[in-house]
Amino acid sequence: MKKFLRRIYRYLNPISRLGYAKYSIIFPLLVSIFAVSGIHFQFLYITRDADSLGLLAIFIPLAIILYSAFRDGIRGGFIATTVTICYYFYIIYELNYTGEELKSGIESTIILTFLYLLISGIIGWLKQTIDALIIKEADARKRLEIIVEQLPVGVLIAGENGKITMANKQLDKMLGRRIPLGFELGKEAFNPNTTQDGKPIHPTKAPLYLALKTGKKTDGLEYEYKKNDGRVSNLKVSASPIKNKYGKIIAAASIISDITAQKEAEKRKDDFINMASHELKTPLTSMILYLSSLNKRSRGNADKTLINTIKRVQNQTENLKELVDDLLDVSRLNTGKLRYNYEKFEINKLINEVVNALQETTPQKIILTKSKPAEVLGDKFRINQVLMNLISNAIKYSSQEGEIKIHLRINKNEVIISVKDSGIGIKKSELNKIFDRLYQVTDDQEKTFPGLGMGLYISKEIIDKHNGKIWVESEKSKGSTFFFTLPVK
Ligand code: ADP
Repeated sequence: MKKFLRRIYRYLNPISRLGYAKYSIIFPLLVSIFAVSGIHFQFLYITRDADSLGLLAIFIPLAIILYSAFRDGIRGGFIATTVTICYYFYIIYELNYTGEELKSGIESTIILTFLYLLISGIIGWLKQTIDALIIKEADARKRLEIIVEQLPVGVLIAGENGKITMANKQLDKMLGRRIPLGFELGKEAFNPNTTQDGKPIHPTKAPLYLALKTGKKTDGLEYEYKKNDGRVSNLKVSASPIKNKYGKIIAAASIISDITAQKEAEKRKDDFINMASHELKTPLTSMILYLSSLNKRSRGNADKTLINTIKRVQNQTENLKELVDDLLDVSRLNTGKLRYNYEKFEINKLINEVVNALQETTPQKIILTKSKPAEVLGDKFRINQVLMNLISNAIKYSSQEGEIKIHLRINKNEVIISVKDSGIGIKKSELNKIFDRLYQVTDDQEKTFPGLGMGLYISKEIIDKHNGKIWVESEKSKGSTFFFTLPVK
């Protein structure tokens, strides 16, 4: 019964029919006939008063015309107008108007006809325009819904009021639960939902909420998500605000992808690199020791070729050990196992030592500008590694004639160290990629340089851990300057 009443209400209420572009002819016809019959009935059998008939015959049909136009568009309004005007002529005929009365009756009817047609035209047109807009919007939404459902990633869209308006099946699968439409961002959390280091995320810090409220974009943030069954998956979340043409945020969308399999593969690879480099390190260390004693023994030997060969093998073995050490460092970095031993030391002295050591390996001039002593708190061994890496890159990526300039400057609470070369330089588009893991610039000329693209990645991680910054300024073919900062103790 309730359902039936609700259906009747929806059938009669023009507001609930907005966006419903099926316009009836019969309904406005019946309603108007019913209304004028009612008016006439009360005149004939209740009041018999021509004045009150005049008033009722204007206001009630006007209301019916408005209603019909708003419910059934221009056609509905015109049908109600036609029935009303016919009724007016019927009254003139029925009341036997003559002379002036007849003239003014016909004149008024003509004026009212124009007025009613105008009103029903405007209201009907408005109703039809609103319907068309609503239908267009619904069509666009349907299209979007279908596209979103087909996507291989999870999609979550929130409206301006912070409530979820769309979530696709992929997302349900990833989360192991359904995010209901109307779910309010910022209040509830998609619990149990944690950042990569296991801390729970406050609902107001969730990327989609931030995109909606502050316009902040998130690009590929990684989260650990614990499903209700206890399994943990790795999710990568991006979110961005959706703005209208005036720049106002009207919604926000989030793309979520499940990177659990990729993470597992990465872990397997890291484990393998870790194991392989450990296995390689032991025989390499022994080889270096044997070679060193062989080198000592060969001194004084007349066979110069033998001595040179031993030296070369020794150098190559050292290079190999450095590579294995880098591999070990990378795998330790990825598993968070790289340990730091902090101590106070004079960075200017360390730079001096590194420069002297590397100067012996190259005919290129390494110039260290004079600087005041500066004490920093850090892991001396690791900072040494960064300096070694930057200066040997400067040597590696420049021609033998060019000079390499090292400069140390104290600026407020930090020291800034720069390593400048006049070598091959780096393209603008590569500048922010060279600090990525295993990234090497693939340029035809540069293919001849040995290396695995680990040095800058390790250096960046080390400097980050020391709360410093590392960056590069470079121009292709003109040279590069690498900078890094360290807080003064
Ligand atoms: P590798 O030198 O082993 O390739 P790095 O991580 O040290 O790895 O460097 C990454 C990339 O950055 C290099 O492959 C090179 O293309 C570029 N690069 C590093 N230092 C310089 C430099 N001083 N001049 C030009 N290019 C450089």
